[in-house]
Amino acid sequence: MPHRVYIQTVGCQMNVLDSELAAADLMQVGYELVHSPREADTILYNTCSVRQHAEDKIYSALGRLKPLKQKRPDLIIGVMGCMAQKDRDAIFRRAPHVDLVVGPGQLGRLPEFIDRVRRGDNLSPLPTDFGPAPGGEPVARAVFQPSKLLEIGLDRASGRRKDISESFKTFNVNRTAAMRSVPHQALVRIAFGCDRFCAYCVVPRVRGPEQNRPAAEIEEEVRRLADGGCLEITLLGQTVNGYRDDSGGATVRLSDLLHRLHEIAGIRRLKFVTNHPNYMTDDLLAAMRDLPKVSPYLHVPAQSGANEILRRMKRGYTVEQYREMLERIREKIPQAAVASDFIVGFCGETEEEFQQTVELVRTARFKNSFIFKYSSRPGTKAAELYADDISEEVKRRRNNELLAVQNAICLEDNQPYLGRTVEILVEGPSKVARKQPPGAATVQLVGRTVHDRIVVFDGPRELIGKIIEVTIEKLDPFTLFGKLL
Ligand code: SF4
Repeated sequence: MPHRVYIQTVGCQMNVLDSELAAADLMQVGYELVHSPREADTILYNTCSVRQHAEDKIYSALGRLKPLKQKRPDLIIGVMGCMAQKDRDAIFRRAPHVDLVVGPGQLGRLPEFIDRVRRGDNLSPLPTDFGPAPGGEPVARAVFQPSKLLEIGLDRASGRRKDISESFKTFNVNRTAAMRSVPHQALVRIAFGCDRFCAYCVVPRVRGPEQNRPAAEIEEEVRRLADGGCLEITLLGQTVNGYRDDSGGATVRLSDLLHRLHEIAGIRRLKFVTNHPNYMTDDLLAAMRDLPKVSPYLHVPAQSGANEILRRMKRGYTVEQYREMLERIREKIPQAAVASDFIVGFCGETEEEFQQTVELVRTARFKNSFIFKYSSRPGTKAAELYADDISEEVKRRRNNELLAVQNAICLEDNQPYLGRTVEILVEGPSKVARKQPPGAATVQLVGRTVHDRIVVFDGPRELIGKIIEVTIEKLDPFTLFGKLL
């Protein structure tokens, strides 16, 4: 009987991709992917450290697994991803029934690690240079029992950049369409890690130094995905528009890469996330304008509309520079949809500074904004330098106020779609479809326009993975409701 693995993923698209790659890697050595922890002999959590809430959820889920592990001691429980890198052996202390902790830079060896745990042959000499654990606590080797395995990258301050980078290996696996949850869409990593060290962000610590994948390797992966029937590629990088590859002699920028990928037969749509405002160069905007397969959609987080907050966040731009970037986008690609991220309640944010953020959202008319309440992360500059002094109540109120402004804009900007026919890539059944009878001739399906607008409509399942046209009959701030032509 093959081993059965269950993987639960929280966090960003980078984590979604890592889980897909980990699953593909395990399937290649005979594992079967199951959809419930109870059916599995290996349970893995791919974790996120960006907010405290995401970590709390994982620790609760791990706690709930304790009775199962007591009943089935051969069950293997693993924690991987950002929380593994950040909390390291502290995970074993909080959840002693966890067997392995694997950082994002070590995922490429996951099948070997699980195998070692299963055989009980799992204690590699523990690295000595991880540096202190969060909060300055030294790594306590004494807590390791022979059945535990810890594999993580080196601490950012622990030595030479080359060694640290090498300890965060980018992880890419050849995966067939059958190994991917959505065969017609794929995430492709082009860069790993980050060097920007925004004051609130834990990513540079948990994902290591910025490393760009060679363009030729990316091209080959996209070609293989296209051969397998993939229509839409989303390129991923923490600061994706800062991509540069010098491995082949001449420098390849993101714009050059888009030109190369645009030539690949079978690919119909190309997207890229997440962008940093400082790298929104004219050559990139020109590539978006000139290449019809590149979706006119940009996610460029602003984070705040107040210069003092941006300075303390160490974002590296002012509101005026962000607005200038928006103007350039709209001048070059007038129909572009721009989405943003905002953090409300950052350390010391005054009411006036928050209102400057509201003003930016009101005037910039983002397609949508992802709004988060500030969550202090140990090990970041913000946690070290500033007090997390905005109350939860004020954060919540600011979050709701900003959301209300953004939602009103979404509703207004969706209105012109009424009665219009739009082209969508059908992504799959909607949440409603899961409650519809399995044999139903038509179900509710979800698709997306090139501008990343979500369209829901009734149609046969055979349309999944096809690019079709629907006419919009109804809408709300977040969704367009269409009718099949
Ligand atoms: S650019 Fe800033 S926010 Fe984005 S991953 Fe890097 S440090 Fe974090």
